[in-house]
Amino acid sequence: MPVATTNIAHTTEHLLLSIVVPIYNEEESIPYLYTRLSEVLTAYNQPYEIIAVDDGSRDQSFALLRDLASSDPRLRVVRFRRNFGQTAAFAAGFDRAQGEYIVTIDADLQNDPRDIPQLMARAEEGFDVVSGWRARRQDAFINRKLPSMIANRLISWVTGVYLHDYGCSLKVYRSEVVKNINLYGELHRFIPAVASWQGVAVTEMPVHHEARRYGTSKYGISRTIRVLLDLITVRFLLSYSTRPMQIFGLWGLLSILIGFAISFYLTFIKLLYDADIGSRPLLLLGVLLIILGVQFIGIGLMGELIMRTYYETQKKPIYVVREEVNG
Ligand code: UDP
Ligand code: MG
Repeated sequence: MPVATTNIAHTTEHLLLSIVVPIYNEEESIPYLYTRLSEVLTAYNQPYEIIAVDDGSRDQSFALLRDLASSDPRLRVVRFRRNFGQTAAFAAGFDRAQGEYIVTIDADLQNDPRDIPQLMARAEEGFDVVSGWRARRQDAFINRKLPSMIANRLISWVTGVYLHDYGCSLKVYRSEVVKNINLYGELHRFIPAVASWQGVAVTEMPVHHEARRYGTSKYGISRTIRVLLDLITVRFLLSYSTRPMQIFGLWGLLSILIGFAISFYLTFIKLLYDADIGSRPLLLLGVLLIILGVQFIGIGLMGELIMRTYYETQKKPIYVVREEVNG
């Protein structure tokens, strides 16, 4: 949901571009980033704003940004009270962005602002999401590129939105696409997939990528696990969030059915042939499947209740309209 902003100075002018930059301890990069971005955007010659979100940096990042902003009204700076993570930083930027398009880019100079005009050209052809693809990514292979390659394949396969590089920050979105998405946890990398629920046109383009020159990466291999868990959430949100009973109920019924079949079989041989069924593993399995099935159906029903609370209390739409005629 768009959040009302406090910056009145910007509300009159129509902005084409909002650049959102998450920043966590990037003091050495900031001056270069600002110059490079400003050069590219000035040459692009369209009204823009840069929203720098300082995600609780403990170095001079904020002081530097504040100084730059004092002489450039197009640079807006948001400072978090503590480190909330890159996803939260993006969300804060999206809430404040007033541009028709939102461009996200990392602060560490690994992305090249000079790619922005091409990405924008693509967006203006009619794409709602143009995702950067670090075709020659300059990061370590074993702990960064390899896990990311596997993750991208997996995310593409599970969500049905095929991208080579979910993790690339350099992306362009039509503003309403991200304003309709609520971000939690580490979900920012899934925006193209989550947005696909709205029926958006997604494409990707190779972009430049450089090795990190200053500071250190904020992430390690541990991120892979979190990405995997998020992927389960995203998959669920995409396909079953408005009908949890359909997924839990189906598995529940199946489980109960097999459980009953096993139990009937055991009862049958017990009554007819007086077989000794008390010590059979099959008995355990039958009982387990029945209990499991009942629980699944219970969870499905709970899900239905929670889903209704979620959509109805927050007046969340269960559909997205493109346009209406004589509406
Ligand atoms: N970042 C942030 N908050 C965090 C971690 C990172 O705002 O908690 C920013 C960071 O300053 C950088 C971007 O997110 O601009 C990407 O981080 P990083 O370069 O460390 O990730 P990598 O490129 O190594 O995947
Ligand atoms: Mg980086």
